[in-house]
Amino acid sequence: MYYDAHCHYSLLKKKYENFKIAAVSMDYSSSINTLSISDKNILKGVAIHPWNVDKENIDNVLHLINKADFIGEIGLDFKYSKAAKDLQIKYFENFLENSQNKTVNVHGLCAWKETLDLLLKHNIKKAIIHWYSGPIDLIKDIEGAGYFITINPSVTFQEKHKKVLENAPLNIIITESDGGYEYKGKLLEPSDIILALDFISKIKEIDLRTLNTIIENNFRKAYNI
Ligand SMILES: [Zn+2]
Repeated sequence: MYYDAHCHYSLLKKKYENFKIAAVSMDYSSSINTLSISDKNILKGVAIHPWNVDKENIDNVLHLINKADFIGEIGLDFKYSKAAKDLQIKYFENFLENSQNKTVNVHGLCAWKETLDLLLKHNIKKAIIHWYSGPIDLIKDIEGAGYFITINPSVTFQEKHKKVLENAPLNIIITESDGGYEYKGKLLEPSDIILALDFISKIKEIDLRTLNTIIENNFRKAYNI
């Protein structure tokens, strides 16, 4: 079994055998789509992505949280989001206040510190910081909070993500695909995780079997399953 802690599953029109997948959503309509999936290997997340906060009514999605397994993809993006920072922060905090102790799957591009501070401010117990490529010195704070980061297949070529992998302890790492998202002209898919695992095992000098067990344990801990 492979573990995909962050995948836009409703955008992919395929079934993936041997994958446990956390399906994230971006807005009300993808949240509804995600909730309609019935597959025991898929965990369902509802959210408004920081790119969409200026287009979506938050109450519509807050009402869906009790039907979801987790909340995500929420967070902040101070690089690509066209929405004002204060609006992004308002939506993010609103989700955190209404988290019902569910795991949150967060995006924090160019807002890593702000994202972590808000998770701590709202006393969030379970958080996964997706595709973490932020400052190395924040990694110990993420670990100290009991949070996890995901390593994306882009680690094989994205230098700052590789640096994160080199510096992060294995007990906070989970794999993800960000499947459904197109990155540098390639549609990402859960099956890309196999390549990422190979790369992680080389960097961390650990055999694949042991690595898989660690990642499974981290995934289960992060999602309370
Ligand atoms: Zn994503």
